[in-house]
Amino acid sequence: MLETAEKSLDPKDWTAFRTQAHKMLDDMLDYTESLNSREVWQPMPENVQAHLRESLTEKTLAQAHAEFMQNILPYAVGNTHPRFMGWVHGGGTPVGMVAEMLAAGLNANLGGRNQAPVEIERQVMRWVRDLFGFPDTASGLFVTGTSMANLIGCLCARTKASSLASSSPRHPSKGGEDLTAYTSTAAHISVSQVLDISGVGTSTLQKIPVNSDYEIDVLALEQAIISDKQAGKTPFLVVATVGTVDVGAIDDLQKIAELCERENVWFHVDGAFGALAMLAPEIAPRLAGIERADSMAFDFHKWLQVPYDAGFVLVRDGEIHQKTFTSPAAYLQRQERGLSANSPWACDLGLDLSRGFRALKTWFTLSVYGNEKLGNVIAHTCELARYLKQKIEVTPELELLAPVALNIVCFRYVCTDANRINTEIVIALQESGIAAPSSTTLNGNVAIRAAIVNHRTTENDIDILVTAVLKLGNALTIFTT
Ligand SMILES: *Cc1c(COP(=O)(O)O)cnc(C)c1O
Repeated sequence: MLETAEKSLDPKDWTAFRTQAHKMLDDMLDYTESLNSREVWQPMPENVQAHLRESLTEKTLAQAHAEFMQNILPYAVGNTHPRFMGWVHGGGTPVGMVAEMLAAGLNANLGGRNQAPVEIERQVMRWVRDLFGFPDTASGLFVTGTSMANLIGCLCARTKASSLASSSPRHPSKGGEDLTAYTSTAAHISVSQVLDISGVGTSTLQKIPVNSDYEIDVLALEQAIISDKQAGKTPFLVVATVGTVDVGAIDDLQKIAELCERENVWFHVDGAFGALAMLAPEIAPRLAGIERADSMAFDFHKWLQVPYDAGFVLVRDGEIHQKTFTSPAAYLQRQERGLSANSPWACDLGLDLSRGFRALKTWFTLSVYGNEKLGNVIAHTCELARYLKQKIEVTPELELLAPVALNIVCFRYVCTDANRINTEIVIALQESGIAAPSSTTLNGNVAIRAAIVNHRTTENDIDILVTAVLKLGNALTIFTT
């Protein structure tokens, strides 16, 4: 006799399981509620590291949870914390967290098929399609993040270029070898990687210089495209950035759109964190021209605070998008009715077949908080960046190192041997647990980089950061001056 109950992974004692599950939920809510009184980050002690290298041992759920609380939870990166300002990491929300639990319970596979979760993904797609002014013929897809979304945008651009040059969309033979792409020197590293992986090759990527605001020099871009055409090459892709990694600069999308239309080049926008500033009425006008992009990549997990991971790609021409990925595999055959209906499926629009229900936590975030509140969060982080900028400007020991376009402030403590001291200040700050900015190098100068992304950050947190920088700067230079 087959004893299914014995073999199942479901609990034998649901009552005991429920008690433990409620405790786990409570612990995470307690953690979120008390973030302000915690350290932003702390290094993993030796004994914790040793624990995390142990071989597999069986535990009860309660034991595994106790281990999580003791050895994992305190030693994460800290981006939930209001004084985490390193890189551009979203803060997450309690709503996103519980939505993720619902998605896990449903265990939906969003590769395709005839199911409501797929409709939720499409609904979110239509919401953002309308937000960015893309046409009804556009298509879109959840992906891990902007790196993957940039890849999909580039592959679609390649499909378009090769269908112009030959009849085989997947294998650009004629005209394939001489494809050239363009981005700015301030673009994200994934742009180069994407060209490499897509087979176009990084050597064909031209990095166009930026102006003093770190925006792509559109005139230099135009000259590069024209001279490449004269040399017999095929310019096929321009990647503009909304919110550059270092300083948060926004490329001139209108001018780039005009240029790309005139030269018949695919216009892709890497809007990883910046694109969703569209939700903030006071910032949205600076994104004018984004509605003319052929494709765009952005992350819900950055400024929109959706828990990791939730990237998205939008493609203006849904047909090109589908042509780039559709596969004729027999076991993925479609029907008019039943579970195998409801084409096109996500696997026709991207590289993944099995994929999770990223759409649900995003749907909950947009539904429960609403566009206005989320836009306010985005605008507020920019206000805080301006507040920090003003504090720096009136503090003689501090110096601004780049314009503040959005929510990123690059500055330094003024002293001799500034690069070494400012690198030290950032590390010491992180180790102190008080605040966690990151560092970057601008024109040879090491900058303390505060990216204000978290919806929990307040003016008080900025004050604490500045006080800590001054104190550390003072302590570190006292012996050298
Ligand atoms: C974060 C970021 C990326 C990469 O996005 P992931 O979601 O981490 O893959 C690409 N471009 C820019 C401008 C970014 O800020």
